[in-house]
Amino acid sequence: MPQQKFNKARFNAALTRQWQQLTLRSAQQMTPHQAWQAVSAALAELLAAQPAPRPAEGQRHVNYLSMEFLIGRLTGNNLLNLGWYNEVSAALAEQQLDLSELLEQEVDPALGNGGLGRLAACYLDSMATVGQPATGHGLNYQYGLFRQSFDEGHQKEAPDDWQRERYPWFRHNAALDVEVAMGGRIEKQEDGTVRWYPDFTLRGEAWDLPVTGYRNGVTLPLRLWQAVSAQPFDLTAFNDGHFLQAEQPGIEATKLTKVLYPNDNHQAGKRLRLMQQYFQCACAVADILRRHHLAGRSIHSLPDFEVIQLNDTHPTIAIPEMLRLLLDEHQLSWDEAWQITSRVFAYTNHTLMPEALERWDEKLMRTLLPRHMVIIKEINRRLKKQVKQRWPDDKAMWHKLAVVAEGQVRMANLCVVSGFAVNGVAALHSRLVVSDLFPEYHQLWPQKFHNVTNGITPRRWLKQCNPALAGLIDETLKTEWASNLEALIGLESYADDPAFRQRYRSIKQQNKAQLTRYIARHTGIIVNPAALFDVQIKRLHEYKRQHLSLLHILYCYQKLIRQPDDQTITPRVFLFGAKAAPGYYLAKNIIYAINRVAEVVNNDPRVGDRLRVVFIPDYRITVAEQMIPAADLSEQISTAGYEASGTGNMKLALNGALTIGTLDGANVEIAEQVGEENIFIFGHTVDEVKALRAKGYNPKKVRKQNPALDELLKALEKGKFSDGDRHAFDLMLDSLTKQGDPWLVLADFQAYIEAQQRVEALWRDPEGWTRAAILNTARTGMFSSDRSIRDYQQRIWQAPR
Ligand SMILES: *Cc1c(COP(=O)(O)O)cnc(C)c1O
Repeated sequence: MPQQKFNKARFNAALTRQWQQLTLRSAQQMTPHQAWQAVSAALAELLAAQPAPRPAEGQRHVNYLSMEFLIGRLTGNNLLNLGWYNEVSAALAEQQLDLSELLEQEVDPALGNGGLGRLAACYLDSMATVGQPATGHGLNYQYGLFRQSFDEGHQKEAPDDWQRERYPWFRHNAALDVEVAMGGRIEKQEDGTVRWYPDFTLRGEAWDLPVTGYRNGVTLPLRLWQAVSAQPFDLTAFNDGHFLQAEQPGIEATKLTKVLYPNDNHQAGKRLRLMQQYFQCACAVADILRRHHLAGRSIHSLPDFEVIQLNDTHPTIAIPEMLRLLLDEHQLSWDEAWQITSRVFAYTNHTLMPEALERWDEKLMRTLLPRHMVIIKEINRRLKKQVKQRWPDDKAMWHKLAVVAEGQVRMANLCVVSGFAVNGVAALHSRLVVSDLFPEYHQLWPQKFHNVTNGITPRRWLKQCNPALAGLIDETLKTEWASNLEALIGLESYADDPAFRQRYRSIKQQNKAQLTRYIARHTGIIVNPAALFDVQIKRLHEYKRQHLSLLHILYCYQKLIRQPDDQTITPRVFLFGAKAAPGYYLAKNIIYAINRVAEVVNNDPRVGDRLRVVFIPDYRITVAEQMIPAADLSEQISTAGYEASGTGNMKLALNGALTIGTLDGANVEIAEQVGEENIFIFGHTVDEVKALRAKGYNPKKVRKQNPALDELLKALEKGKFSDGDRHAFDLMLDSLTKQGDPWLVLADFQAYIEAQQRVEALWRDPEGWTRAAILNTARTGMFSSDRSIRDYQQRIWQAPR
């Protein structure tokens, strides 16, 4: 489709209606925040008229189901994708409104925790850009992920009431309302069919956000379902004086989509969470079937036209929900219903960690969803027959493959059994999905297993967040790289051009100066913009090992104190951004430790401006957009085998930060692309981690054999960074020593320090460093999410033959 033209007259008319609704007399009377709302609402109105792309021959409509969509600010991004930025800016200037100023007023919708939610947002952006017909289905949380602040170094959480004022990009699509039932009991009817008598029903409202393709006239809906009471307000009860009862159903319903669970890579196991999951799935499946019927198609042809991609196991109940509707509403036989369902669903695995693999208590599932539990049991019964045929008398095999076992429903198993495709999110991870997680299923159905390496949208993560570098690339390549990121390979030859290097380096320096001002404004800390900016931004998790970086900070500090006159020591600014789940006390203790160490280091006069440690509060998309273009060094130091892919690693490499990292997730593929001389790889590999554990890993021995490490740990233990409090960091330190160091932090310490020394050697050669940075930008084109989406199209989403 061609780029959609900006219609100034329609925009101005829509904008005028906006300020008139505020009963103002002119556009200039709006506050900057009102102006942002008005401009966004006017743009949303212009976009609402857009037709969705139609599937090509043999192309299915993709329904991307995800509990999280971490979309970030929309207004600036939509203007950039539409190519309307300059025209809107000019139209507003005629009314004395400053576009860049009002864009700073935007709220940042934080409807996700981290990588998984951001991936869903990048994928919608790319589906719109490559013209893949699709709908995103998620939940309209009233409160997004909590806001983070620090109180004497401790994380404090505050609610994120992001919709307190109207969110202007939303459009309530009232024609799509869905009824969702829960609880109750089931009864066999005389005719043999089953009837479900639920306890209560809710109504799901569809709140749509427009996802714009890059200059192609395409807009896709991100449909966020919101729970409201299905029953109208009970006026009789109210008049009888039963105020509270009258309000009850409404209160229950609004609770359902009130908050996003703040766990990343960890199952909460709460009843309300299961209700959220079912609510989302029921709304999405009803919506998909309604669209199919409206097109006048037979239910049997559903797999020819629709595919449902499950972003992790969170929306797995969509599978029994689909079966329930086909069996109970459409009266299909089990075989017919199974034929259809098993050709519609595809599942993306995001983790191998046992604590993150969802299992639901069978009893809870039966209380809330009695009909679905019966269906899941039937899936399990039929699977058992199949397994027994293949492996007669092998009880251990059945125990591994069962969907229901030991009173629990294993959601990942349900996905593999009931879907037609399973994929991991990076080459290494997809290999481990087969070898370590599902080897038995792989023997049964090898053709189901795929890899699709994650990606990021270059529109937000280069063009929008790093306009100076984007401009240099435009000027150099003279081609539309933002929708064809592989074109960046054309920059390779400029890595040896001194003039280009100079411009590339000066852009990084400008970005660092800008971040320096942001840091001063938000933390009061003054950092040296000429120092190496060492950046670790991601959720706080033991497996991501922010505490490994903390040990390195202590190492640098010690060295500086010992050799105050050594002018060869590399000046560094250590920058962190990370939220810890509120109930994850060990993660919070790591934040506290970093903040306490920062306090000491930043205020030690012997340090001067050669070392700074800054924990930037409330890490979110808007903060990422500031930090990534200013990073020199990207910390990707997870224990090998645990970071399924990572996408922060891709954003940073694309923007010219060099990676220091383990051979984990997509780091492996980044190393292949950029070349081993342009990345700093260290530490135990997946196989070495396994071997070390098998022979019996003892962190105390590692400590004893490494006096430098022992000294750093002792300093923490003795309270040198906590005013003499010897227990301030107990949770973290006990894990590293007494509890066996499950994430091998000490085992990788020495290799990490040595890799950091290689970093400093290259940093001392600015030309060599810049050359490597340019090659990172030039060679990371394959990490565009457009490429990921094309991989999904070719490997998974094709209509069944
Ligand atoms: C990209 C991104 C993530 C994921 O980072 P990883 O380093 O891959 O874990 C998390 N949060 C935000 C805000 C992001 O933009």
